[in-house]
This record gives sequence, structure tokens and C-alpha cells, in this order.
Amino acid sequence: MTNANDVSRPQPKPGIMDIAAYVPGKSGAPAGVAKVHKLSSNENPLGASPAAIEAVREAATYMEFYPDGAATRLREAIGEVYGLNPANIVCSNGSDEIIGLLAQTFLQPGDEGVFTEHGFLVYRIYIQAAGGVPVVARETDEKADVDAILAAVTDKTKIVFLANPNNPTGTYIPYEEVRRLHAALPGHVLLVLDAAYAEYVRRNDYESGIELVSTSQNVVMTRTFSKIHGLGGARIGWAYAPAHIVDALNRVRGPFNVNAMAIEAGVAAMRDRAHVERTVAHNDKWLSWLSDELTGLGLRVTPSVGNFILIHFPDDGKHSAAAADDYLTARGYILRRVAGYGFPNALRMTVGTEEANRGVVAALTEFLKS
Ligand SMILES: *Cc1c(COP(=O)(O)O)cnc(C)c1O
Repeated sequence: MTNANDVSRPQPKPGIMDIAAYVPGKSGAPAGVAKVHKLSSNENPLGASPAAIEAVREAATYMEFYPDGAATRLREAIGEVYGLNPANIVCSNGSDEIIGLLAQTFLQPGDEGVFTEHGFLVYRIYIQAAGGVPVVARETDEKADVDAILAAVTDKTKIVFLANPNNPTGTYIPYEEVRRLHAALPGHVLLVLDAAYAEYVRRNDYESGIELVSTSQNVVMTRTFSKIHGLGGARIGWAYAPAHIVDALNRVRGPFNVNAMAIEAGVAAMRDRAHVERTVAHNDKWLSWLSDELTGLGLRVTPSVGNFILIHFPDDGKHSAAAADDYLTARGYILRRVAGYGFPNALRMTVGTEEANRGVVAALTEFLKS
């Protein structure tokens, strides 16, 4: 209970108690379910790279020492793989942390931060936590709409967050569109391109944003080790940014924000390109299998280029997303409810192991007959 007039105890600053806390994907299933398939948080069904697991074991033997606060080896490994200058990279405790640092660094109370209608909810939370005003730009066909984003920009806008591809829709906009957005934004507005799923995208007209960061002063690209690298539990993200933004972020972040085990896991995972390729190949195969099978059941799916798929349920009153979620959960298949993202009658499913994917399709086949 909060009472703004209660002076007998500390009060959060204005706006904090208006934040709707992030609700992570469920991980449990009811007692008695033999096997749980967690398909609610877009984790890698192949797990982490064996090299990363070994690196963490080794790092655990000297965890009394503080980590390298600059995460130098990790920035070098990333720079090597992507052909980037490590000086333009900032590492973080998951890319969520970078998103928060950017909001905190560039938004003053009353400044506006723009994101899209079905965009990643973390943007709203960090804009509000910084005292900023969240501004939502409508989407078209469950896809970011550049004209709508530009129409949402005002004199007060300081930051625009774009997840490309987006979560939970899995849709993306082509690089030409991102360039058009950037070209029309005032130079003082920061454009954050959240490319958490970039590695999964197999489209010739897609670009994660590296070129735009390299050639401008107001673009940041964020990436994560939580998805393709299977390191969600290790909490590692990174940003590629112009030098002046790196300088600002390095003043605001915690001095040891990436721990020693995470640094070593990240270095090993980044260098294990075979694991990345296996993961992409698995996803390609099962994402298209799932969309075909689910469509075959008469369910609409949003076309996805990520490692998850948004499944829409019928409005017949009997086969709602909530009913499907209960049905699947009882059988050990944990998907993600997405009402908070403006999809009250859809579930988001991570592309899982072959066993999990086949199991969900079989269970939904029965569910729709029920
Ligand atoms: C999963 C996800 C992230 C990554 O979060 P981490 O903090 O790095 O685990 C960032 N953006 C989007 C859109 C995501 O779906």
C-alpha cells in the first residue's frame, strides 16, 4: 500500500508506483506433469555452447577476484566476430540493463520516449523509471510503422526504441525502412535499434543496424547473449554505439556490471560459431514446420523471423488463448501469455526441441477438437 501523503516513511519519486512490473514467462507446471517444456522466454532449445559451460566452471575457481570492469576480453571477442572496434562496445548485465542505462542517461523528467504498439514492454518500464513519458506509435499489420513512429515524435522526444525483429510479434522492418526512419529523425533524438534476434533473421533486406551506428551520431544497436547463445541465465548484453554515447554509458553503468563468469561464458560463446550455426539451422527448420502445422490446424500465426511464433486463437468462446494456455500447461508445455502486449487472445511460443514442437502441435490438435 502506498500513500503519497505518508511522510513517516520514504516515498518513491513520482512515477515509480505507476510502473507495471515486468511479468516474466512462467517456468513451472502443475505437480504430476512428467516433463516440462519451457517455451515462454525464447531460450535456446540446444542450450549453451559446451565451451561456455566449461569456461564458467573454470572462472568459478577464481571468483573471489573482481572482474575486469571494462569486460575487455568480451568486447574484443565481439569486435573480432563482427568486425567492430571494441572501443565502441559497452557490455552489460543483459541487454535490458543497456536499455535502462540509455533511458536514464538521455531522458529528463517529462521527456518523451517512443516505442511501438506491440513493442517490447521493457522500454515502457525504463522510460517511466527515468521519469520520462512513454509514447506509443501504432503498428500496421503487427509491424512497426515508420510513418506512425515519426508522427509520434514531438519537441519533447529524446529517444525512440525499435525492436527489429520485434518481440512478441516476430516481425521486422527492412533496412531501407530503418534508414528512412533515421533520416527523418532530428539529430538530437537517439534511435535505439534492439537487435536481440538479429542472428536468426534470414532475409536479404534485413540489417541489424551496425552500418547506421557506424555512420551517424545518434544510433545505438543493442544485442544479447540470452537468445542465440543460450545464456539467458548468465545475463550478458552489449551495445554498439558512437564514442560519445559509449563515454556517457561508461559513466552511468555499474563499474563491475558484467560478472567474471559471464565474461568468460560470453567470450567462449561468441567464438563458438558452430554452435550459433547449429542453432540457426534448428530454428529455420522448426520455425517453418511450426508455422505450417499451426496454420494447418486453422490457427493464424504472425509471420516470424525470430525464434518464436505468435499464435492467435479463435473467438469462438471455447478455444481462447487462456483456455489453450491452461490445456498446454497441464501437459507440461509452458507458453507465454501476451495480453500485456495487446494480444489478449494469442500465445507466444518459443521454437523448442523437436519433442516439444511436436508435442505442442499434437496437444493443440486435441485441444481444438475438445
Ligand atoms: C529477450 C529480449 C532482449 C534481451 O534481454 P536480455 O536482458 O539481454 O536477456 C532484449 N530485447 C528484446 C526485444 C528481447 O526480446
